[in-house]
Parts: sequence; structure tokens; C-alpha cells
Amino acid sequence: MTAPRLLIVGPQGSGKGTQGVLVASAFDVPVVSTGDIFRANIAQGTELGRKVQAITDAGNLVPDEVTSEIVRDRLAQDDAAEGFLLDGYPRNAAQVRDLDAFLSDRGEQLDAVILLDVPREESIARIAKRAAEQGRSDDTEEAISKRLDIYESETAPILDVYGERGIVDRIDGVGSLDEITARIFDALEARGIVRVAA
Ligand code: AMP
Repeated sequence: MTAPRLLIVGPQGSGKGTQGVLVASAFDVPVVSTGDIFRANIAQGTELGRKVQAITDAGNLVPDEVTSEIVRDRLAQDDAAEGFLLDGYPRNAAQVRDLDAFLSDRGEQLDAVILLDVPREESIARIAKRAAEQGRSDDTEEAISKRLDIYESETAPILDVYGERGIVDRIDGVGSLDEITARIFDALEARGIVRVAA
């Protein structure tokens, strides 16, 4: 098959960033992570970075128009023409509509949505560990709980939309890194999304 168009979804601390990179490289598609794009812009002090820093530090969502335009530009680049793995976008219903509109203009749609299922307590424990290791400026207690609240109220509902399309693979996100990666590959394989031979 041609390269897949994938989305990975999960609460902060679910390991979606790590798994996203592994899965994307196995399928030889780029990872498009809005969180990484915002962090890179903040680190480089760009105009966008200055605009979004206070929002991301508080754990709030950057406005949809800004975020959707960034994703649209990124997906228009050559390396995403055949396939991609989205991480952290879409995150609410309006962004699902923006992505649908963009993909349907290209005659495309998502092939699968990987949901990494991790209980809230486990997410919090993992983010606390990451905060100690990496010192991310949005890993304060207040911002973490804000991000988890937004995930539950705005992001989790988008899974109903994709669920109705029959493209959601719910993956148990508790286990070793390798176990979880294997679960993802098994689920995708069951859809006929098969890895390029290594
Ligand atoms: P993440 O690394 O995915 O947790 O993203 C870090 C921060 O970037 C989030 O807390 C938001 O402030 C912002 N962000 C990332 N993706 C989005 C999105 N799709 N919509 C709005 N804000 C986003």
C-alpha cells in the first residue's frame, strides 16, 4: 500500500510522542507534531513563538486558526504528500473539521487513529517524571492538570467522530515501550496497514 495517513491520540504522558516517532519511522512517513512545532518556534524566538508561549505555558490551546494553518502548511510539503503521522492535532471538534476539509481537498482521508489509552493517575506520574528529567516549561502542576482537563473535555470527544468512521484502534498504553509498539503494529496490520520491510 502507499504510505499511511495516521493520527496518534492520547493524554499527555501517554507516551504518544515516543510511540509516534517509532511508528512513523517504521512506515517512513514524517511526524507532524504541533507541540514540537510550537516548542521549536518558542526556542527560536520567532514571532509565532512569542505569540504562543504564554498560552502553551498555561496549558491552554493555541487558537484553532493559528494551529490549523500551521498544519495545513506542513502537510503541503513534499515529504507529507504520500503519508504522515499527526501527533497532537486535531485536538478538538473544530480542528477535526479543518483537517477534514484540507484532506478532502486533496482527495484524502485518515487511514487510522491510534488511541493510546492510559489512566489519568498513570499519565500524571509519567508527566511528573518527565518534568524532573526535561524541565519543560509547561510541566507545572497547574498546567498539567489544565492539559488533562482539556484532553478529557475537548480531545476525547473527537474519538467519537473518528469511531463512527470505524478507524479508531484503542491501544492499551500501559506496558513496556516495545510491548506497546507491537500492539500498535498488530492493530494497524489488522487494517492492512503493513510496514515497509526493514
Ligand atoms: P503537546 O506537546 O502536544 O502536549 O503540546 C504542547 C502545547 O502546545 C499544548 O499544551 C498547547 O498549548 C499547544 N498545542 C499543541 N497542539 C495543539 C493543538 N492541536 N491545538 C492547540 N494547541 C496545541
